[in-house]
Amino acid sequence: MVIIGAGHAGTQAAIELRNQGWLGTITLIGKEELLPYERPPLSKAVLKGSDKPSPTFILNEELLKEYQLELIGKSTVTRINRPTHMVQLSDGRELHYERLLLALGANPRQLNLEGSDTSGALYLRTFLDALQIRARLVPGQHVVVVGGGFIGLEVAASARELGCTVTLIEAAPRILMRGVPAELATVLEARHRAAGVKFKIGVGINRIESSPTGHNIIMADGDIFNCAAFIVGIGAVPEIALASACGLAIDNGIRVDHHLATSDPDIFAAGDCCSFPHPIFGGRRIRLEAWSNAQEQGLHVARSMLGICEAYQEVPWFWSDQYEMTLQMAGMPDLGAVCIERVGLEENQLYFHFTEEGRLVGASGIGPAISKDIRYAQLLIRQRLTMSPSAFSSPDLKLKSLLITK
Ligand SMILES: Cc1cc2nc3c(=O)[nH]c(=O)nc-3n(C[C@H](O)[C@H](O)[C@H](O)COP(=O)(O)OP(=O)(O)OC[C@H]3O[C@@H](n4cnc5c(N)ncnc54)[C@H](O)[C@@H]3O)c2cc1C
Repeated sequence: MVIIGAGHAGTQAAIELRNQGWLGTITLIGKEELLPYERPPLSKAVLKGSDKPSPTFILNEELLKEYQLELIGKSTVTRINRPTHMVQLSDGRELHYERLLLALGANPRQLNLEGSDTSGALYLRTFLDALQIRARLVPGQHVVVVGGGFIGLEVAASARELGCTVTLIEAAPRILMRGVPAELATVLEARHRAAGVKFKIGVGINRIESSPTGHNIIMADGDIFNCAAFIVGIGAVPEIALASACGLAIDNGIRVDHHLATSDPDIFAAGDCCSFPHPIFGGRRIRLEAWSNAQEQGLHVARSMLGICEAYQEVPWFWSDQYEMTLQMAGMPDLGAVCIERVGLEENQLYFHFTEEGRLVGASGIGPAISKDIRYAQLLIRQRLTMSPSAFSSPDLKLKSLLITK
């Protein structure tokens, strides 16, 4: 079993292969120098925590030994030879596989405008990126964050908490345009404004110039923001180069089927790099960039690689921490035609998203009191029942009571 990509999905798959009883070799190949680690803390604790941040490791040397995993770190796979079942490493080594897993993740989308290639823009994906950004978050200095998605907002919150002056630029008409209900985006924006973040929304950047004090970000409407550093979070692009070079099907990432197999039955993919059909959402093909998806697909794909054929149908779940607030989303809120707010939750917000036929397809909210309901909503979404949406506004409705237990 050969796994390319020693991130979250790849590591979970390696462990699960052993837990499922695979006795042969498991080789995990990763570009990065560090042992596998978690990415969510990079935009939060690593940026604003102790002076000497350390990664939150998923595996350590003892676990590698215990699970008898062979980890080849600091190594890039440069080619997959499908007819011979060989992969080639950057140092020239070749490895044979019986089954191959591509858990290659995604890369930050790059700014593409005048001056951006020479501008020293900072991007966040790896622990080393986080250390670089952290070194530039100097209290009192002006930092510009480009992109009002989750990474941008989390970086903005961390930078404010460190005492930087922060301007966040978003070209779309509002922050969190992709997949997050406008009501929740409004709550988060208000929290950022209360913390002192300045927003420039609905206007694109024209070009970037160096200045004696850092950079000038020149906006399409003529505004200029001078800053000591600027961090770009404008989405991520799935890593597909290896897969497309060896002729695997690509469709918004590496295309996999219900079992997470690619168009080659001996090659599988999991995590941020792949798109898959979701049976709960009518077979709609989706690609997720979320910790729980990497976790669940890592476990699932290991079983598929061993020939256990079950369709992957975990209901998506995502969280984001900004200041003291935690946003959570389950299912696919953007597929909902009807949005019902649960009333009477004081400081918390909770929304349920239904199709026109009354099928729950998503739940989203902010606040400590919503976690249990988000969890039950995930289970209800999985059961695909038709319900009466209006009943969900009542704080007295116990979601657990709607679940069908076998
Ligand atoms: C800063 C940050 C904060 C986040 N916060 C949250 C959060 O709060 N909540 C949430 O739900 N999700 C969050 N996420 C998303 C979550 O961390 C990812 O969805 C998850 O890490 C994806 O795991 P993966 O295994 O698919 O990819 P990755 O973890 O990216 O692992 C892929 C690995 O493959 C390696 N690789 C690629 N190509 C090759 C090659 N040819 N040869 C060898 N190795 C290769 C890469 O170097 C990388 O190490 C965050 C992500 C980031 C970047």
